[in-house]
Amino acid sequence: MDSIFDYMQQYDYENVLLCQDRDLDFKAVIAVHDTTLGPATGGCRMWQYGSEMDAIEDALRLAKGMTYKYAAAGVNLGGGKAVIIGDPGRKDREPVFRVLGKFINRLGGKYITGEDVGTTLQDMEYIHMETEHVVTLPSYLGGAGDIAPMTAYGVVRAMQACCMRVFGKNSLEDKVVAVQGLGAVGHNAVEQLHALGARLVVSDIDRKKVDSMAAEYGAEKADPDGIYDAECDIFCPCALGGILNDETLDRLKCRIICGSANNQLKEERHGKLIQKKSLVYAPDYIANAGGTIYDTDRLGSGGVNNERGKEKVSRVYENMEKVFEVADRDGIPTYLAADRMAEERIRQVAWVKRYVDDLKP
Ligand code: NAD
Repeated sequence: MDSIFDYMQQYDYENVLLCQDRDLDFKAVIAVHDTTLGPATGGCRMWQYGSEMDAIEDALRLAKGMTYKYAAAGVNLGGGKAVIIGDPGRKDREPVFRVLGKFINRLGGKYITGEDVGTTLQDMEYIHMETEHVVTLPSYLGGAGDIAPMTAYGVVRAMQACCMRVFGKNSLEDKVVAVQGLGAVGHNAVEQLHALGARLVVSDIDRKKVDSMAAEYGAEKADPDGIYDAECDIFCPCALGGILNDETLDRLKCRIICGSANNQLKEERHGKLIQKKSLVYAPDYIANAGGTIYDTDRLGSGGVNNERGKEKVSRVYENMEKVFEVADRDGIPTYLAADRMAEERIRQVAWVKRYVDDLKP
C-alpha cells in the first residue's frame, strides 16, 4: 500500500484512527470500513508488524473482511478492526488495553472491539474497565464466554447444507469427515459430528490430541500431511490458512470442503480451481461465522440468550443455501458468491435506511 487515502477510496472505507501514547509506548490503529448495517465490529489484534504501513493495511483489510462476514451472516453490524503494534507477549497489559478502551470511547460506539490473535479474554476485561464497546467477554461480565462450540456448530450447519447440495440429503449419518486441527473449534466439531453419526478421520500436529480424540470417538488417525489423502466425503480444515492450494487440491479425495480455518484459499484462483474440480466449497467466512453470530447476538437485545443465539447460528445453513443460489444464478464460484451476497445485503439495507423514523423538522 503506497497511499492510505487511495486504498481507503478503492474499497470505500469510512475512517482510520491512529492512536499513540508516548509514555506507554503505545501505538494502535482502529479501522472502520462500513457502518451501513450497524456499528463497525471486529477484534483487536496485537502484533509486531514490519512497518507502520503494514499495520495500517492489516487493520484495513481485516475490517473489510468483518463487513462481509456480518453482512453475509445476516447480522446488523458493520466491519471494523483494531491492531496494537507491539510484542503480543508484552507484560504491561492493563494500561495498554485500558488506553485502547479510552480511544475506542472516542469513536462514540461506531466501533466495537473483541478478542483476536495476540489478545485474550483478560485483555478484553481491561478494555471493558474503560468502555462498554467490547464483545468476547467472559460470562461473569455479561459476555457469551467460550464461543468455539458455536463456531463448530455453524460449521456443522454449513456442512449439512453442502450435503444437501451434493447428496440430496442433509444428514451427516455415515458421512466420513476428515478434520484437520483439533483445537478449540476442531475438537468441538468432532464431538458434534460424532453425535450426528458421522465417521471421523482426525489429525493435528499435537499427537496427544489425535490419540485422545481417536480413543473417545473411534476416529481414524491421520498424520498432519496424510490428512489431504484421506478417503472421505468432507474435508474440514480447522487449523491453518492457505491449505487449499495447487498441491493439496490435487490430493483431496472429498466432495465437500467445509471448515472453520480463516483464509483457506491460498490464492483466489484456487476458489475457481475448486469449482472446476466440481468440489463444493463452503466459503470460510460463511462457515465459521457461528461464534461471532452468537457472541454479538446479545448487543442491543438485552444480553446473552442461549436459545436465541443458537437459533441464529443454525441459520448458517440458510446462508449457505443463499450462497449456492447466487453462485448458480450468476455462474460464479461460491467464494465470489458469498461476497456478492454480502454486497447485495448492504445495498438493500442502505435503501431501507433512507426512511427516517423521526420526521420532526
Ligand atoms: P486453536 O489454536 O485452538 O486450534 C488450532 C489447532 O490446529 C491446534 O490444535 C494446533 O495444534 C492445530 N494445528 C496447527 N497446525 C496444524 C497442522 N499443520 N496440521 C494439523 N493441525 C494443526 O484454534 P481454533 O480457535 O480452534 O481455530 C481454528 C481455526 O478456525 C483458525 O484458523 C481460526 O482463525 C479459525 N476460527 C476460529 C474461531 C473460533 O471461534 N475459535 C472462529 C472463526 C474462525
